[in-house]
Amino acid sequence: MGDIKKIIDGSVSYLKYREKYSPVTLYENEVSIDKSEISTPEETTSEMPLKKSASKEESDNPIVRDDNSSYSLIREDWMEAATLDELNEKICGCQKCDLWKTRTNFVFGTGNPNADLVVVGEAPGQEEDKQGKPFVGRAGQLLTKILEAIDFKREDVYICNILKSRPPNNRNPLPFEIQQCEPYLIKQLEIIKPKFILALGTFASQTLLQTKEPLGKLRGRFHMYNGIKMMVTYHPAALLRNPHWKKPTWEDVQMLRDEYDKSTK
Ligand code: SF4
Repeated sequence: MGDIKKIIDGSVSYLKYREKYSPVTLYENEVSIDKSEISTPEETTSEMPLKKSASKEESDNPIVRDDNSSYSLIREDWMEAATLDELNEKICGCQKCDLWKTRTNFVFGTGNPNADLVVVGEAPGQEEDKQGKPFVGRAGQLLTKILEAIDFKREDVYICNILKSRPPNNRNPLPFEIQQCEPYLIKQLEIIKPKFILALGTFASQTLLQTKEPLGKLRGRFHMYNGIKMMVTYHPAALLRNPHWKKPTWEDVQMLRDEYDKSTK
């Protein structure tokens, strides 16, 4: 019964936020690149179909209806957080999916709370779980270098993941885990109000864009995520395994920097 309630509650959070924000659309001025340089990772993610939205009346009156297609509409305390610290405090004990049982630390995110650029990865790895901070392992060091190459310091930007708890053995996040955790990311973005998102890797990119398109076809152009301009590129961990992807990554982040400069002039 407890598990069913968690599923229901998570769905409500997810639907509520998805209803509030506009669907993802492609940025009009797409920029082409040399596709011969692109390799396509084979990882895929499961679809997360949206079902139905809640009416105003339902939102104001939390209920559990008795037909299978309905859900309880329960407002959660963290939705009212006004700052990142407050949000962190409210969700750091989260147990909405089973990953809380195996995590060492909850990994909320770090960086500038007023950043114009938010970097979003997939989930904490071993080192991140140990330290309670995102991107602090080998891949994180490479991310720092990539950011520095386009004149950003780590402390200039905000860095976080879609999942806040580490999946065991770094396995891919499950659809249910994403469903439970993505609303926290949406809330983080609502508080930070960045102008740009850099999504790292197949999983983060496909999840945020709600697509199964391979990363090779998503990168090299801007997308929109909840009204925020988003570039997607390879995950630094993938670059460590396959240096062939460094060139397209460099092109992506340069494109991001150019657009960032234009927007802040
Ligand atoms: S991964 Fe997200 S939803 Fe699951 S327990 Fe951790 S914070 Fe909660």
